[in-house]
Amino acid sequence: MVDTLITGGHLLTMQGDGAGFVENGAVAIEGRRIVAVGPREKVEALGPARRTIDATGKLVMPGLIDAHTHSHSDLGRGWAQEVQPWMASSYGPLMRHADERDSPIGTMLMLMEGVANGTTTFGDYDRPMDALLAVHEQFGNRAVVCENISELNWDKREEWVAQGWKPGDPTPLDPETGERTLATALALYDRWHGRDEGRLRVILGPHAPDFLSKEMLLRVQEEARKRNTLMHLHVAQDPRENNATLQRYGLRAIPFLDSIGLLAPDLIAVHLCFAEPNEVEMVVRSLSLIHI
Ligand SMILES: [Zn+2]
Repeated sequence: MVDTLITGGHLLTMQGDGAGFVENGAVAIEGRRIVAVGPREKVEALGPARRTIDATGKLVMPGLIDAHTHSHSDLGRGWAQEVQPWMASSYGPLMRHADERDSPIGTMLMLMEGVANGTTTFGDYDRPMDALLAVHEQFGNRAVVCENISELNWDKREEWVAQGWKPGDPTPLDPETGERTLATALALYDRWHGRDEGRLRVILGPHAPDFLSKEMLLRVQEEARKRNTLMHLHVAQDPRENNATLQRYGLRAIPFLDSIGLLAPDLIAVHLCFAEPNEVEMVVRSLSLIHI
């Protein structure tokens, strides 16, 4: 006897032709595992179920994946978008006041809305990730998370300004901040990666090509590969980023990443808002995962 039978719906199994479409199918679940998927009569032959869900006229499909979210930022929804520039004038100042008590509330809100709309896996890029992972753990969704690794130290902003830096210029890089944030990210990996039979996974999240040096990006890649885990990077998200890599390395962000071997199947490249069509093609050809 199986625990749960979802029966009578149209299935998208994502295997075989046509997205694995099965008309009038069924799914059998035992405990936390799907044990059978297929035509209704075949699956029902496994025997009666403790609970049957009639999905007639409905579509039954795998959970959707939100590959990039900053989950606690749901705290700013309905607020941040109304003010421009939203990051500097609204979202940033609001979030500077969010702490370990507030941020999990944003994550909980985002998970409730996500699951209600069919998303079951979340690529969460945020901090303080220990507190947010506790929410993911309790909620029951899958999560692939990272905490920001960056050589950007805003606390030194006044020093930069005194040295002639102005908004839009590439930000000076601070190797000490890079080392500290990398160590924090690796410790997070050690504490959480693989928990609950792999439901919670930790990957490494270098912030963006303009906020880390070439050496640090390669170092993060090396640490990720040692652990057989992925990297999650904001790519071509801002004209400032293209400008920074052009000034430092003579290449826009995506050609720069390509030139150092960062574009690869173990990279999740997110946003690409300021990528030229040939640059998008470069990322696609590399088999990096893309989330717009
Ligand atoms: Zn982001």
